Amino acid sequence: MAGLNDFAEKKLASLTKNNQLRVYQTTERSDSIYLIREGKHYISFACNDYLGLTHHPKLKVAAIQAVKQYGTGAGSSRLITGNSPFYAILESQLASIKQTEAALVFGSGYLANLGVISALAGPGDLIIADKYIHASMIDAAQLSGATFLRFAHNNLKRCEKLLAEHRAKFRHCLILTETVFSMDGDLAPVEKLLSLAEQYDSWLVSDDAHGFGVTPSTAFPHERHIQMGTLSKSIGAYGGYACATKIVVELLANTARSAMFTTALPPAVLASAAAAIKLIRTTPGLVEMPLRRARLFAQLTGLPRPESAIVPYIIGDSQKALDASLLFAKQGLIVPAIRPPSVPKDTARLRFTFSASHTENHVRKLAQAFNAQFVTFEEPEVVFL
Ligand SMILES: *Cc1c(COP(=O)(O)O)cnc(C)c1O
Repeated sequence: MAGLNDFAEKKLASLTKNNQLRVYQTTERSDSIYLIREGKHYISFACNDYLGLTHHPKLKVAAIQAVKQYGTGAGSSRLITGNSPFYAILESQLASIKQTEAALVFGSGYLANLGVISALAGPGDLIIADKYIHASMIDAAQLSGATFLRFAHNNLKRCEKLLAEHRAKFRHCLILTETVFSMDGDLAPVEKLLSLAEQYDSWLVSDDAHGFGVTPSTAFPHERHIQMGTLSKSIGAYGGYACATKIVVELLANTARSAMFTTALPPAVLASAAAAIKLIRTTPGLVEMPLRRARLFAQLTGLPRPESAIVPYIIGDSQKALDASLLFAKQGLIVPAIRPPSVPKDTARLRFTFSASHTENHVRKLAQAFNAQFVTFEEPEVVFL
């Protein structure tokens, strides 16, 4: 018989031994890129606040007004009395951006994945997923009770092989991918996956958490496609969403348990999200900024040209990644070390994320620190004549 403390102690010792122990560090973000930890000031290259909207004055005003008008909390679930007027506004904005008939807002991206995937697949169904999908999709697939198979990252041939071998044995089949992969920053072949979904009588759920508001064109409307994502990253608020046809959204509203059995989002959160989407649509050039910053960083360091605002630098060993991250911190730069199980074994890495709020000088400072630590390319030789 083991006590609870005993259990915790052993488990934590094993996490520590494998360099997997996590620490929640108190962090003050009083700005979208500057932060304070233990009294020390840093520039962050770690946030998902891609457009710097968490601290935008207009969005703060929208949130404050919503608090004044509707209070701090929703009071109950959406199905009881929590369905504030902001939901309808936000859902119509999301449907319009994703070019779908309708949208459903959830409490978070995590909850959206749980709800959507378990509403569409269960025992007797098949889920085929990219190896690198986010933890929330993995959890959802496992909780759904469906048979869960995975294909090598972005490998359409492997995906098709699984479909060809297994699809016929199951009732429904769901394919899962991310549009922009959260730990690698590369893009999924969404249109080709949609063709496979058509060919093999399957449905596609794509998670646009890191694409929405960052990559310029992220709408892939299709009858077999659920486009999900989050309001917690580029939108600078909190929440998740799923966009699809009207009837599919109605199905989700009636069967996605993570939408039904949880309290509605606070009105202020919804109001700032709706205001953020409006701002993005009326500010030309804003969406392109994070990618431009990421590309400048890659140019200055000799890293491959990024396709998104996420630039990984794979180190391999977890301890080495942690040490590298610490070296950046000593220079006032927050760059997270991402370790297993967030990424596959032996692929611990530094993960740089860029924001519209970073100036070119911020990026140059980071690149200097990077180049001092890692030599990835030969400086062009200077020839004196
Ligand atoms: C962040 C993230 C989520 C979770 O979204 P939250 O709104 O933070 O719960 C889901 N999927 C992916 C790919 C993510 O990066």
